[in-house]
Amino acid sequence: MSDLAGKVQTVLGPIPPEELGRTLMHEHILTDLTPPDERRDLEEAVITFENLYDATYNWMDTPGIRRITEPGIAVREMEWMLDDGGRSIVDVSTPGMAIFPEGLRRVAETSGTRIVMGCGRYLESFMGPADLERGVDDLAAEFIGRIQEGFDETGVKAGLIGEIGCSWPWTAAEKRSVEAAVLAQRETGAAVTIHPGLSEEAPFAIVDMLRENGADLSRSIVDHVERRLFDTDGVLRLADTGVVLEFDLFGVESSRFPMGRDVSSSSDGVRLDRIRSLIEHGHRDRIVISHDIVYRTRRRSLGGHGYGHIFRNVVPMMRRRDFTEAEIDALLVENPKRLLTFV
Ligand SMILES: [Zn+2]
Repeated sequence: MSDLAGKVQTVLGPIPPEELGRTLMHEHILTDLTPPDERRDLEEAVITFENLYDATYNWMDTPGIRRITEPGIAVREMEWMLDDGGRSIVDVSTPGMAIFPEGLRRVAETSGTRIVMGCGRYLESFMGPADLERGVDDLAAEFIGRIQEGFDETGVKAGLIGEIGCSWPWTAAEKRSVEAAVLAQRETGAAVTIHPGLSEEAPFAIVDMLRENGADLSRSIVDHVERRLFDTDGVLRLADTGVVLEFDLFGVESSRFPMGRDVSSSSDGVRLDRIRSLIEHGHRDRIVISHDIVYRTRRRSLGGHGYGHIFRNVVPMMRRRDFTEAEIDALLVENPKRLLTFV
């Protein structure tokens, strides 16, 4: 048991879990998800009414759209989220992407949002050559250090492990990231959150590795479920393993999936259908939801739905679909509270 047991660690320090309230478990507030070999210094596309739709539809190909680095805009976005009824938010940006511990602290101080920051590392395609060779113990020591000591001299400390990036086929370096995440979980009592590769097999392969390495599956989150599993049987089979399922692309309603696969991807309605089935099968306590905002036109400041969409639009939709208040609270308050509280 660590000193953090029973507490949540935000970028402003530990808080009692009751202070979290409604919580988004998988967002990016400040980051740059432009792959390093696509030049982060490339001039950004100017977004206008004329190109807004196509820039969003083809976001992987729009220069600079994955650069969300301005603290002032982030503060405004957080204030809108608070107005919509949200309270806390987890920034799961991990090295490979650009990370901004001090920026997040400033955004938390200025906006009054409770922000929890992740640690870990992202996909192999975002790793430099030296990073590729790193061993499990070295990585685990880094992740544990981020939680216990903070990000270098900033004093800002991580409050969960992830998102850990995995591709499909799953690479050796990425498998070491997951093994290290499990070691760090066992040492610190933090939850882990893992981005699976683009395959129906990937979530199950990750669960197998978590289990073999002694992870606490009830504190292990499989991300982006609605872009990996496309039917009710699949999500029920995953929930039966005991992991937490995260539907974290609320607000994305396009069937276009710009990462190279042609899939019939989700809408908010389909997401709620899957969640309903999970609840009917007794899995209410292992579901969390979020938006995973990582490009500029999903934010309100550039015409998008923003970080408040779930509170503003999806919660009323849940009520129309006869979700009970206890079920809504489980997804938005109780499950995040359990996961973010160190054990
Ligand atoms: Zn992800």
